[in-house]
Amino acid sequence: MRTLVTGGAGFLGSHLCDALIAQGHDVLVLDNLVTGKRENIAHLAREPRFQFEEKDICEPFAEKFGEFDFIFHLASPASPFDYAGHGIETLRVNSVGTLNALEAAKKWNAGLLLASTSECYGDPLEHPQKETYWGNVNPIGPRSVYDESKRFAEAAVAAYRRYHNLNGKIVRIFNTYGPRLQPNDGRVISNFMRQALQGEALTIFGDGSQTRSFCYVSDLVDGLIRMSASDSAGPVNLGNPGEFTIRECAELVLKVTGSKSKLKFEPLPQDDPKQRKPDIMLAKKILGWEPRIALEEGLRLCLPYFQQHAQAATV
Ligand code: UDP
Repeated sequence: MRTLVTGGAGFLGSHLCDALIAQGHDVLVLDNLVTGKRENIAHLAREPRFQFEEKDICEPFAEKFGEFDFIFHLASPASPFDYAGHGIETLRVNSVGTLNALEAAKKWNAGLLLASTSECYGDPLEHPQKETYWGNVNPIGPRSVYDESKRFAEAAVAAYRRYHNLNGKIVRIFNTYGPRLQPNDGRVISNFMRQALQGEALTIFGDGSQTRSFCYVSDLVDGLIRMSASDSAGPVNLGNPGEFTIRECAELVLKVTGSKSKLKFEPLPQDDPKQRKPDIMLAKKILGWEPRIALEEGLRLCLPYFQQHAQAATV
């Protein structure tokens, strides 16, 4: 199998590459490094079955890199901090970039899996979120560059299935964490771990009663690979249904790090979803998948990474 991973130098993409290489795939990564990092894939540089090209997939690429059997389309800024800072790039990669990825899949008769997002549900009025829920998204708010372009990307995959019979698949990924998260990417786990380890106050936005559900990266990668091999088109939710308030999350980080940091309350960003929890019945049924690593265990697993990288990080 020759597999293309767009965005393969990112947090999730690089872990996916590790798993694909371990399973014997030939892997090509296209990434323009807008938020991806060479360090994430540096350990694969000597692997003969691994190839990295610095490339913006907003330019057509179907003819340039030979044939492949499957495309994991992950390229996009993904943390609220990153997509706010790269709003137009986010719109472009999820629209133009997705169309280019679909054209490449069509040309080579390859399957394609789109890494979509729980953000498609917006600030959800249905809880937990099932795949059948259409969402509550502000089309012009600060998150819209991400939410709406991912919704466009889903529509594009659905259209290529419908009009070209393409083997396109959609997964909706909920908050995921683990080693290689950038300690300064602004995400809640990265911020809290870095702050706790540097002895700074943990910044809770709002009153900390909003909830999220956090999936450890190895569980998520397992779900992606199962989905790629399945007969299902999705959309399928992938995430850990364990639901925590942000305040509980802060307290767990303090426990795991042994930090004496205080909590500091800051204003809640506009359109910040109040609650988020995946219904994963569908993934259980069609993929035989469910996460195995609970939040406290996962935080312990990525503690050494944050201990190594927190000090160097500037915000
Ligand atoms: N958050 C927080 N403090 C931080 C960073 C984030 O309280 O330092 C909150 C944020 O307002 C949101 C939740 O944590 O309610 C998750 O934020 P994140 O940026 O990780 O991703 P989101 O799920 O909002 O896309």
